[in-house]
Amino acid sequence: MKVFKFGGASVKDADALRNVTKILGLFPEEKIVVVVSAMGKTTNAFEEIVLALWNRNEDEFQAKIDEVKAFHNNIIDELFGTKSQEIKKQLDEIIAGIQDRYFNSERWSFNLEYDQLVSLGEVISTSIVSEYLKSEGKKVQWTDARKMIRTNHAYREAEVDWPVTEKLVSSEINTVFEEKDIAICQGFIGHTSDGFTTTLGREGSDFTAGILAYCLNAESVTIWKDVAGMLNADPRFFENTIKLDKISFREAIELSYYGASVIHPKTVKPLQNKGIPLYVKSFINPLDEGTIIQEESDKDHLVPSFIFKKNQVLLSFTPRDFSFIVEKNLSDIFNRLARVNAKINLMQNSALNFSVLLDEDKSDIHKILEIFENTYTVKFNEHLELVTIRHYDQKTLDFVCQDKKVLLEQKTRETARIVLMPSVE
Ligand code: ASP
Ligand code: MG
Repeated sequence: MKVFKFGGASVKDADALRNVTKILGLFPEEKIVVVVSAMGKTTNAFEEIVLALWNRNEDEFQAKIDEVKAFHNNIIDELFGTKSQEIKKQLDEIIAGIQDRYFNSERWSFNLEYDQLVSLGEVISTSIVSEYLKSEGKKVQWTDARKMIRTNHAYREAEVDWPVTEKLVSSEINTVFEEKDIAICQGFIGHTSDGFTTTLGREGSDFTAGILAYCLNAESVTIWKDVAGMLNADPRFFENTIKLDKISFREAIELSYYGASVIHPKTVKPLQNKGIPLYVKSFINPLDEGTIIQEESDKDHLVPSFIFKKNQVLLSFTPRDFSFIVEKNLSDIFNRLARVNAKINLMQNSALNFSVLLDEDKSDIHKILEIFENTYTVKFNEHLELVTIRHYDQKTLDFVCQDKKVLLEQKTRETARIVLMPSVE
């Protein structure tokens, strides 16, 4: 049994769905669990719907819903033509459910509301994919991640209850495979013990593929992408990128932790625990090799890899009483940062200073200044870049630093991390 994951870009329109069918056709003898994300940019559209609902902006709410509905209806029309009634009915029911929520007088927390609504992007996409594959003659069963992936109540970043999930997944999917060849399942979403829907964090569908493979002892996972595999750098920022043919689980975890966006950082761990290989392959050229991630592979394959993050802000905290940065201060600083849900990309301390680097667009700098103000002076520097180089050498260091000012640098034997201020032209 194999697990395949198709992300938003691989199901973004009718042609993309036809291509998914073609790829599945390459594996006629296999039992396959197909994990699907929301189509195209639907998750972003749903985030706007939740905001409009939360702000009680009915016009905006309705306009966004109409957009989502029209987007999916177009795809349905193109794929099903005159046979679209059944699937359109399913879509209408989901949309009506969203509209009802606006008038629901019960007020929950924002994050809870978010998960109940945003998860529907995946529910819609899997319904369409499943119906389409059926119409193409495949033996398919739609399955519901909201009945299989059990999580805690940490909405928007839910944590998996592994033992319960393992039981639920294996009983559901193994039953499906008694009669069918393909089980379609939503990525990104799960459920609590009391039946609320949760999500696993943005871009979390890869992680779902990892969870399902773990629970089913799958033979392999393949993530189908619009790139040739894992590259040693982001082609938007670097010329002459190299595809990594073969890397170890450890290397993949390191690269995705530092921000290589090809796979979600949580995906690899469950696969590593069971030694299940992970392939990253191109959905445009599905017969090409792609990247294979597996148990420790040949060290000779280690080429320098670059991970580049823009829009970084460096914050430095100095205790107002000029006390040293020691354990007591550190735990106080972390407590305050945790209160605003800050995600730290890098940190460094000196005698009187503690510095953290955060993503500008994911951090509320004003709030941070506010909650630190009474005890610390805070300095900050915006619009910076963070470059991480795995397997660096002097040449690669010189290359990334040219024409830029180095504000901070950290090196271990394998990894160099540099905070840069781009030159002002
Ligand atoms: N649709 C979700 C998102 O865009 C999950 C995913 O694509 O992996 O974040
Ligand atoms: Mg997505």
